[in-house]
Amino acid sequence: SDVGSQKDRVVTEEEWLEKWEMGNIGFHKEEGHPLLRKYLDVLLNGRSGQRIFFPLCGKAVEMKWLADMGHSVVGVEISEQAVKEFFSEHSLPYCEEPVPEISGAKMFQSTSGNISLYCCSIYDLSSSIVGKFDGVWDRGALVAVNPCDRQHYASLMISLVEKNSSYLLVTVSYDPNKHKGPPFYVPEPEIKSLFG
Ligand code: SAH
Repeated sequence: SDVGSQKDRVVTEEEWLEKWEMGNIGFHKEEGHPLLRKYLDVLLNGRSGQRIFFPLCGKAVEMKWLADMGHSVVGVEISEQAVKEFFSEHSLPYCEEPVPEISGAKMFQSTSGNISLYCCSIYDLSSSIVGKFDGVWDRGALVAVNPCDRQHYASLMISLVEKNSSYLLVTVSYDPNKHKGPPFYVPEPEIKSLFG
């Protein structure tokens, strides 16, 4: 578990925006993630009307799945292109409005009101702005965060969840000397120390 080769790597917001512009988005899965299907019961625990958070959401199709099941979905994504593609690819009408607490941020909300996507950096969010969540789907999120920001990210996520929440985390396991990431390799002991 030598992660030395990745620990100083930084992917800037501009680089992420450029990936979206170039269509360099191999992380996006049109079919949705089999692990969410598999562990849906763990996320929902038989409860209806949950508030589910998608950090670093991209245009993840799983947001549509959960909304269609009657849950309320909140995502955050720095690429406005990604957010707009999400709504247009699912033919969902939406409106957009500024977020008064965050300079430059916009919130895109489906007209039906059950999907709200914040277009800003996740580090600009707080529970006073977005409230707290019953569930989190973290796929391509912790593993996309720069290694130097992991502690900040994890503390923020902990501050955004309710006491009885469920947090599904997808990571990737591989030799970090063979690929520079993202996705980054996050060793299991580090996950335990980040989230407790
Ligand atoms: N979770 C999604 C996307 C994973 S790729 C999926 O499963 O498909 C990571 C995404 O995070 C990219 O779309 C990138 O634009 C976005 N991103 C990177 N840094 C961010 C930040 N600080 N705040 C919000 N979004 C960010």
